[in-house]
Amino acid sequence: MLTRLDAESSRKLSTQREIFRDRGLAAALLRWYRRHRRPLPWRDTEDPYRIWISEVMLQQTRAAAVIPYYERFLKRFPSLEALARSSETALLECWSGLGYYSRARNLRRAAQHIVAESGGRFPQTCEGWAALPGVGPYTAAAVASIAFHQTVAVLDGNVARVMARLENHRGDVRSPRVREELREKAQALLDRRHPGEFNQAVMELGATVCLPRRPQCPLCPVSDACEARRLGVQNELPVRLAGREPVRLEITVAMVERNGTVLLRRRPDKLSLMPGFWELPQAEGLEPRGFILGERLKSFRHSITHHEYTATVFRAALRGRPPAGYHWISRQRLKALPLTTITRKALESL
Ligand code: SF4
Repeated sequence: MLTRLDAESSRKLSTQREIFRDRGLAAALLRWYRRHRRPLPWRDTEDPYRIWISEVMLQQTRAAAVIPYYERFLKRFPSLEALARSSETALLECWSGLGYYSRARNLRRAAQHIVAESGGRFPQTCEGWAALPGVGPYTAAAVASIAFHQTVAVLDGNVARVMARLENHRGDVRSPRVREELREKAQALLDRRHPGEFNQAVMELGATVCLPRRPQCPLCPVSDACEARRLGVQNELPVRLAGREPVRLEITVAMVERNGTVLLRRRPDKLSLMPGFWELPQAEGLEPRGFILGERLKSFRHSITHHEYTATVFRAALRGRPPAGYHWISRQRLKALPLTTITRKALESL
């Protein structure tokens, strides 16, 4: 029978085994990352401004799609001060197409805050970043670890998937409790000497090898330590219980042109969704407002949060003067305006 001392030393031994396993796993992951990482323009810099911009853009958007926006943004706003001084119109125009525009507005608010409150000096800790307007736990941990070597793990969708599979965690990844458990696991694995690089390595593994569907386990540097793979259940993880059904909506969009100009309106500032953006006439009731719909130009789908729109664009004429709020905008000027994504997609048919 085991004595209390035996039980205690066996518990210590298994904790030590876990620590060795975790250290080996972190080292294998770092070696793999250094050899296989994609050459992305925000890597190999420790400039907190550049890292911050890239991390915000990468939320909800794939790396390949972010690259041209990132480069254009830094040309237009090359420093924190330039971003803090920017006009909202210039900022939104530069962000147009990336979606989730509150991200751009929050970047600008936080830049103004840093300039006004700390003379342009960036916070150095995760807590300091999290205290900035609009900076969430993911961005705070990513910037603090990559730019300032703070030992804090990030948790995004990629990291959550990798951790759930490594641990064979069967909880619903949408649940805050499960996400916290997965973050703790990532924190336990974190390489203390290279926290930023380690965080990027896990995210890279999730983006290129431990894919949501068909994970590439034979190419994985940590497959020997992966519980899901050992049990053959990697395709079942992470568990994601059914969410809300998307709301499907159909909208009609009118393209009215006159002498090289197009009719648009600026969305009122009081609207919660995309205030200040410009859009083509759309929605129900175009005809009573004097629009005469003609040839159908195209249809396309667009999703915003849990709304799924099917937009149909018609060439249209206008009876009488434009309704209040509408303006004739030259094609040249269109390029410098922040446009809603539906309008930008519709104008591609021009
Ligand atoms: Fe993901 Fe497969 Fe690697 Fe496990 S072995 S972490 S499932 S890629």
